[in-house]
Amino acid sequence: MTEYRYIEVQSYDNGQIQRIMLNRVSSRNAQHRGLLVELDAAFLAAEADDACRVVILGANGPVFSSGHDLGSAESKAMRTPGSPDLHPSYTVNGGSRSGAENRMLQEWHHFFHNTLRWRNLRKITLAQVNGTVFAAGLMLVWACDLIVAADDAVFADVVGTRLGMCGVEYFAHPWEFGPRKTKELMLTGDSVSAQDAAGMGMVSKIFPADELGEKTLEFARRISALPTMTALLIKESVNQTQDNMGFHNALQACFTLHQLNHSHWAELHDDKQTWGKPEDGVPSWREAPPIVHAEIDSVRAEH
Ligand code: ZN
Repeated sequence: MTEYRYIEVQSYDNGQIQRIMLNRVSSRNAQHRGLLVELDAAFLAAEADDACRVVILGANGPVFSSGHDLGSAESKAMRTPGSPDLHPSYTVNGGSRSGAENRMLQEWHHFFHNTLRWRNLRKITLAQVNGTVFAAGLMLVWACDLIVAADDAVFADVVGTRLGMCGVEYFAHPWEFGPRKTKELMLTGDSVSAQDAAGMGMVSKIFPADELGEKTLEFARRISALPTMTALLIKESVNQTQDNMGFHNALQACFTLHQLNHSHWAELHDDKQTWGKPEDGVPSWREAPPIVHAEIDSVRAEH
């Protein structure tokens, strides 16, 4: 099996079930390029493997994923031209171009189309989520067919309130939260619990955090018993229905809006930073107030 640095791949039942675990625990499983390239490789390897029927995507540590890695030294070294640790993926697929062209192409390949490819994987996929699932963490979860959550799971896209952005690159929010709830959650940065997400039809099962791994595996075993052709055509019937309802085109349109939003900030800033700054009215994440639960009977929850 391929050696990975930022993820782990576990195999069960003679390879019928593969479990991919995000494994940047000390960085709250923030997604940098190295992790995303490995994740894509692991998904495609599972897809290519005819023994594999179900893929679980989970995470080591107390946090599923805090989103894209914008600030760690490792992530910066991976994306800085001339750095000895420059990730090779930054020199292709638009990475050697400049301006909005560079950003649009790189985000298309590594954030948008990666996610869409995983959503259309020719296997049944289960997200196994615990702790916080913020911003781009949602993209990983939403790409999966079913979501199993620990009772401590919390979901939020905070890029509106913390980065001045209109959402993550894969804008599935209205399809998952509903249109009006998406506006509320994006305009406030508030979070929803696993129970809330189950009420929205987003989460299928909720288990105590310490039982999550075992219960998700049991659930995967139940699903893996179905004939592979039947399982794939069930998935595909739903995905094609959703695509005919406009899902695919809406995602493309919102990706373009996302790029416009980045370009706006880059145009305003001397250093070309592509997200908002405190002087723009966007508090830095270090000083931003904590993310709180979207409560129906208060303007802003106490905690
Ligand atoms: Zn972006």
